[in-house]
Amino acid sequence: MSSKYDLIVLGGGVIGLSIAAQCAKGGWSVCVVERGQMGKESSWAGAGILPCGARNPVEDPIEQLRQLSDRLHEEWAAWLADFTGVDTEYRRSGGLTVARTSAERATMRGNCLWWDELGIEYQRLSSSEVIGLSPAVDPVASPGVPIEYYWVPRDAKLRNPRHLMALRVACQKLGVSMMEQTEVVGIQASGSEIAGVNIRSSEPTKWEGFLVADRYCLTTGAWTPQLLKPLGIETGIYPVRGQMQLYRFDRIPFGFVVNEGHRYMVPREDGRVLVGSCEEEVGFSKGTTEEMMEQLSVWAGSVCPSIRGARLETQWSGLRPGSIDAFPYLGTLYPYTNGYVAAGHFRHGLHWSTATGLLMSQHLSGKKTEIDLEPFRLHRGNV
Ligand SMILES: Cc1cc2nc3c(=O)[nH]c(=O)nc-3n(C[C@H](O)[C@H](O)[C@H](O)COP(=O)(O)OP(=O)(O)OC[C@H]3O[C@@H](n4cnc5c(N)ncnc54)[C@H](O)[C@@H]3O)c2cc1C
Repeated sequence: MSSKYDLIVLGGGVIGLSIAAQCAKGGWSVCVVERGQMGKESSWAGAGILPCGARNPVEDPIEQLRQLSDRLHEEWAAWLADFTGVDTEYRRSGGLTVARTSAERATMRGNCLWWDELGIEYQRLSSSEVIGLSPAVDPVASPGVPIEYYWVPRDAKLRNPRHLMALRVACQKLGVSMMEQTEVVGIQASGSEIAGVNIRSSEPTKWEGFLVADRYCLTTGAWTPQLLKPLGIETGIYPVRGQMQLYRFDRIPFGFVVNEGHRYMVPREDGRVLVGSCEEEVGFSKGTTEEMMEQLSVWAGSVCPSIRGARLETQWSGLRPGSIDAFPYLGTLYPYTNGYVAAGHFRHGLHWSTATGLLMSQHLSGKKTEIDLEPFRLHRGNV
């Protein structure tokens, strides 16, 4: 391996591919090293819900990230469709939240205050208005307890496997070297610089090598601590499993996202409906459990009774990169001046990937970032 890249991105999930595409667009030579197939871990497993961002100016760092991502998703979806020919099914579908318990109703009252402050448009709907949106959404009520409904018309969604496919094609067209089935097995440091990464490729080629670049960016999701630990860097990133089901209807039963607490349903345009999810701390163990599948299908049936007649096509789980304070880590990998990290996006990585791509490309090239990355720095004293 003799070529020296401007940037090596470690990990080819939605975060790594977004940064790679953005930097390659700027004219950099970029290599993405991915242990498995590009985009097939948490980024593939996710649902693709993109809650809309604030209309008003915001100071809260997470709201800034959401606001920027929201704007960029519209732009990226149009650019990806034009540049790659892939429709990511990015749509401003609207999002309906159902509140059936007193805790859910109290949470939604709080959310309304917050939405008012952010300038997020929403409406309280009656049950007949919900039936008007779609008769398939007909939640079961407890006797004598009213259900509350909240509709956010600008909430969006995308079909994440398509978004990943589009990013992958875009990276290829932009000349990014895409190394799949290739694991980064070590990061070599020399003084305050990263000198290169040791890689090991699995089937079918099976070879080992050393890659060098001017800069290195870790986007290895839940696995990021495993690469950082040998460098003496501890982070607050840990895996949080989420389980998911996919149902198949003959025709699309509703076109918008349905939320209740941590549960949701997300329709795809071909009649498939995703049902998720949960938060489980089970280390790096993937797989689904009968108990959680039962809970998800009971919940889905209680909100959309016709799902009981739909075919359960498949089920899966993914490992979200959790972070202990719910902020992702975005910035320089001090003390290494040419090392960077973008990981720990937890439940929001698909959503925040566009802002992360832009902000990290600005940071990597030494420019002022569109929003301040200080609150997201690796050494923020929370571990
Ligand atoms: C069930 C579920 C539902 C979700 N729903 C949503 C949602 O609706 N909206 C939303 O915004 N987000 C959602 N998320 C969260 C979102 O999917 C994640 O935050 C996001 O995918 C994180 O992206 P990533 O690129 O950091 O991680 P990943 O997609 O996990 O990518 C990291 C990559 O690094 C690779 N890697 C690791 N170690 C090495 C190594 N040593 N060498 C080479 N490669 C390596 C891995 O193979 C992997 O491909 C959901 C997640 C799950 C699991």
